[in-house]
Amino acid sequence: MTASKGYAALSAQSPLAPFSFERRTPGATEIAVEILYCGVCHSDLHMARNEWGQSIYPLVPGHEIVGRVIQAGSSATRFKVGEIAAIGVIVDSCRACAPCKGGEEHYCEQGATLTYAAKDRVDGSITMGGYSNNYVVDERFAHKVPANLDLAGVAPLLCAGITTYSPLRHWKVGPGMKVGIVGLGGLGHMGLKFAHSFGAHTVQLTTSLKKRDDAIKLGADEVLLSTDASEMAKHARSFDFILDTASAPHDLDPYLSLLKQDGTLALVGLPEKPPAVSVFSLITKRLSIAGSMIGGMPETQEMLDYCGKHNITAEVEVIPANKVNDAFERMLNQDVKYRFVLDMQTL
Ligand code: NAP
Ligand code: ZN
Ligand code: ZN
Repeated sequence: MTASKGYAALSAQSPLAPFSFERRTPGATEIAVEILYCGVCHSDLHMARNEWGQSIYPLVPGHEIVGRVIQAGSSATRFKVGEIAAIGVIVDSCRACAPCKGGEEHYCEQGATLTYAAKDRVDGSITMGGYSNNYVVDERFAHKVPANLDLAGVAPLLCAGITTYSPLRHWKVGPGMKVGIVGLGGLGHMGLKFAHSFGAHTVQLTTSLKKRDDAIKLGADEVLLSTDASEMAKHARSFDFILDTASAPHDLDPYLSLLKQDGTLALVGLPEKPPAVSVFSLITKRLSIAGSMIGGMPETQEMLDYCGKHNITAEVEVIPANKVNDAFERMLNQDVKYRFVLDMQTL
């Protein structure tokens, strides 16, 4: 066992506080990494505050992890001590069901093991996330990081990156399509970068007028203030696909009104309350509302390699670990540009 430290929520009401715990010694196919950077995802906030009703305390959040391998098990072949490894939202799965065999471990029929607040398949303990100084994971659930990328900017790719890359690929976003991204936060700004990079006419939808210039710099062809009904009306029936990353409860109908016949609104944001939808909005244009969750191991590596090739990383504000509660508050106030990343060397 290795003595480990990090930041944990002890209850849904308490702020994150310093916390000590133990991690196991890596097994034969496992690696131990010393964590360098961990991104702050809005899911960490939802989970720390038990907004989805599935939290287990003490809860060490963090699933956007970049670290250096400090130990490798006797049968580990993909990583050597000293190499950089990245870990995302899931750290294990049954490995036997059809989704697992097809490289879609995140849709494991037995339930994938989440990086934190989940029952560990190896030792039955509760997983503790990346707001900490180390992590132990089977090398099959770790990723290679392209050498040309800034490591702090890579960390958010492990959740915000793959969660937007995967649906944009699944719905074949590319040239000739008009695509909307709802919300310019951690996920949204990665969705914007990818949709632009894939060649779509990309429109950023935001509730924050002050983000307009940034959205253009990040690749938006147009920016649409979603709270302005007359601006929205000018774009009615013109979008092929919209990716909704909003973290707070919101009405879907204004976004559905933007879609062309047979268009799709794909939800990735996970507000604590389910949305109300007018069926009339759907039937009158044969629309689809869909959902998507992170991505599997092969697609996550594909996304990282794509980012290496196209020099794509997240826009990050790197902060010391003891500022994590401030980061949560600023995220709630839609004041993030565009992902907080904890420098775990400051622990
Ligand atoms: P974030 O950085 O806080 O960004 C969320 C953005 O949503 C805000 O910046 C804001 O953008 C927009 N927003 C907030 N309230 C809104 C409202 N009432 N109406 C419209 N837009 C609103 O959060 P994040 O880390 O990107 O995460 C976003 C959501 O995705 C969270 O719910 C998270 O749990 C979920 N998530 C899902 C998956 C998955 O696999 N599906 C993976 C990771 C995260 P503007 O200021 O531009 O309006
Ligand atoms: Zn996340
Ligand atoms: Zn499985």
